[in-house]
Amino acid sequence: MSDAERRDDAPSHFIKDIVRADLAEGRYRGVVTRFPPEPNGYLHIGHAKSICLNFGLAQEFGGRCHLRLDDTNPETESMEYVRAIQEDVRWLGFDWGEHLYFASDYFDRLYEWAVELIKKGKAYVDDLSAEEIRAYRGTLTEPGRESPYRNRSVGENLDLFERMRRGEFPDGSKVLRAKIDMASGNLNLRDPIMYRIKRATHYRTGDAWCIYPTYDWAHGQSDSIEGITHSICTLEFEDHRPLYDWFLDALGVHHPRQIEFARLRLSYTVLSKRKLTLLVQEGRVAGWDDPRMPTIAGLRRRGYTPEAIRDFCSRIGVAKKEGVVDVALLEHCLREDLNRRAERRMAVLRPLRVVIENYPEGRVEELEAVNNPEDASAGTRKVPFSRVLYIERDDFMEDPPRKFFRLAPGREVRLRYAYFVRCTGVVKDADGNVVELRCTYDPATRGGDAPDGRRVKATLHWVSAAHAVDAEVRLYDRLFTDPNPDGIKDDFREALNPHSLEVLTGCKLELSLGNVEPGERYQFERLGYFAADPDTRPGRPVFNRAVTLRDTWAKVRARGS
Ligand code: ATP
Ligand code: MG
Repeated sequence: MSDAERRDDAPSHFIKDIVRADLAEGRYRGVVTRFPPEPNGYLHIGHAKSICLNFGLAQEFGGRCHLRLDDTNPETESMEYVRAIQEDVRWLGFDWGEHLYFASDYFDRLYEWAVELIKKGKAYVDDLSAEEIRAYRGTLTEPGRESPYRNRSVGENLDLFERMRRGEFPDGSKVLRAKIDMASGNLNLRDPIMYRIKRATHYRTGDAWCIYPTYDWAHGQSDSIEGITHSICTLEFEDHRPLYDWFLDALGVHHPRQIEFARLRLSYTVLSKRKLTLLVQEGRVAGWDDPRMPTIAGLRRRGYTPEAIRDFCSRIGVAKKEGVVDVALLEHCLREDLNRRAERRMAVLRPLRVVIENYPEGRVEELEAVNNPEDASAGTRKVPFSRVLYIERDDFMEDPPRKFFRLAPGREVRLRYAYFVRCTGVVKDADGNVVELRCTYDPATRGGDAPDGRRVKATLHWVSAAHAVDAEVRLYDRLFTDPNPDGIKDDFREALNPHSLEVLTGCKLELSLGNVEPGERYQFERLGYFAADPDTRPGRPVFNRAVTLRDTWAKVRARGS
């Protein structure tokens, strides 16, 4: 984490105001937050917002932030997800120290507390079916009806609840409910369910339990057990807050404050775990870490840096009002970060062979290339130049339109860090396709301008053929073609972009990229920012395009101002 990020000049927001006021009034003595993902999928950029918020508050107020796996639902959770979540939070730059917790570790405590509520006459065992419970619940305009089992005696409830736990009743035949108010204007207070019978093997507790607590029953009590002061969640839990408070008051235990904020929504992106899981399960992407996925693992593989993601989270801010953030802002944050830090290299993605006819055969020159014009300390490197080169196919046109200033028959251009070259001939195959260019070079232009002052209108990147490293390069486009895939009526999958991945093989990289390690990031001059993929093998790089050089966000901003 940079010092600038640590300093408390980070933008303020309403949650910080609440925390500050709570501390000033002595409501809490310190700040303890938590990030509570359910281990039923990989973390995504929306979670990053919550992670930056929760860990950021702890840092700013000198408190701590817990990582809690909210694992009360045995059917969809797994250790793979627990591991991935830890890796991703750490990679983002946050540390929970020894405060790693699992809601499943609280199953005993939650059970005891449920017994306590029964003894206080505040919970009861209900035999109604799930459908009946729904029907009895009423609607926003109609009050609910009380279950015929609502007034069971404390003794009977204690006995039935214990037998539920022992496995005497079939799945779904009974539930434990809080006894609150079936006429409440808030549906969440109409005797919400606390426990269900479900015979499912939990990835941590195995078959020790056949009753599992609901989110509402588990979450606030977990917060209380850990001494959380500020329990921050997304807006859809606003209507649950009275219930959150009711449980804690009924138990008379440490009472955190729940605060809701607007979840991140991003254009051209889905962030629902259910939908992301579908994409993985149906093979629409290569996995959770597919570089097209908005997951932290996918963004990392794509070439995103933790710094860029944290910068993005800081810029979008924290508010109570929902809005859609332009995905171009996320891309902009990456570009800004990599522009500062990524070294430049030359790479030709769609090679066209060029022979410099007046360059001596067998001669090789080492030309000096700047590693990063934004960072003098990055120094320079040597790039080999020889008689046969590759340039980008797009950089030549046999019959160029007026605005095309790159190479064409008879025309002269600069090869970056090398010489002026002029195209003197075109070699074609039997079908008339251009397969090679013949050029001449001007030895007097080495590494700079022409002594006679003549100008060229384009500078091209190139790679020496004899020294080139063969590579695969994967170009990504947005995964969805619609700015709001969640809004598609029938199925968000209809908005999938069939051209979201283009794999180029036979790309030619400059010599210095022969031994890249997965994760290394570069700017390929004129092409964009690229990251070496984990599929890279020694001498066989595989690169992902993280982002192009064209900054649509900066353009939008310029137009707006
Ligand atoms: P989904 O609703 O897709 O199932 P979730 O919110 O239930 O996702 P959790 O694992 O419960 O996923 O989320 C962990 C934490 O991350 C929660 O505190 C939640 O509020 C927060 N979070 C999840 N999605 C977003 C988002 N898009 N923006 C901000 N915070 C989010
Ligand atoms: Mg959730």
